[in-house]
Amino acid sequence: TPDIRPLVAGNWKMNGLRSDLDQIKAIADSIDAELAEKIDILLCPPMTLLYVATALAEDTALLVGAQDCHTSQSGAHTGDVSAQMIADCLGEFAIVGHSERRTDHGEDDATVKAKAQAAISADLTAIVCIGETEEERKSGRTLEVLGRQLEGSVPGGATAETVVIAYEPVWAIGTGLTPTPADIEEAHAFMRRTLADRYGAEGEKMRLLYGGSVKPGNASELMAIANVDGALVGGASLKAVDFLAICEAY
Ligand code: PEP
Repeated sequence: TPDIRPLVAGNWKMNGLRSDLDQIKAIADSIDAELAEKIDILLCPPMTLLYVATALAEDTALLVGAQDCHTSQSGAHTGDVSAQMIADCLGEFAIVGHSERRTDHGEDDATVKAKAQAAISADLTAIVCIGETEEERKSGRTLEVLGRQLEGSVPGGATAETVVIAYEPVWAIGTGLTPTPADIEEAHAFMRRTLADRYGAEGEKMRLLYGGSVKPGNASELMAIANVDGALVGGASLKAVDFLAICEAY
């Protein structure tokens, strides 16, 4: 298997005021050369803090990205933010298809694919989120759902540079629950096979993150699973000490 550089990404969701910028600064300033040598570390604050965050991250190893982007780069879309605008604020990544957006905003696979394509067109890396619901897992349809979401949400020309996949079981997000290591291994092996079949060598190298209740206490066990190339972290990314402890789990 090729050498894949791990990525630990923090998703602040709709959290973070100016008074929390000290946490971003603490994360940026704490990434020493030894850690930066081993992994990529990304923080996705809310859009309101994005430009200030990229300024705080300048000259540090911290990468900054956004939690969503529009399918178009500009135009009559009140309240939306485009990938071009994120790139203009020096963001380098956009999360697309997070389960909260699929639920809250009715985003389907086709929309997520168009957003990923828009991110790539603006020279961002798209973090495409997929994952089964509790009901889908209980009825034994997890891999079928993941296959459908990969097919429907990941653009045809995806490469290991332009796309990261985040496997986030919906029932594990913000609940303190995680699948067993064996279940995560099975899901990630399936994603790897599917992506390798579709994208060849690029699919072999594409980073596959696990997300859903990753904490300092379980990070090293989760990150040791085969084909888990990093983590997407929600709640535990809000405090610099917790997020850094997860990064140090590598
Ligand atoms: C997420 O929303 O991407 C997530 C994984 O959240 P949490 O870590 O809080 O479960």
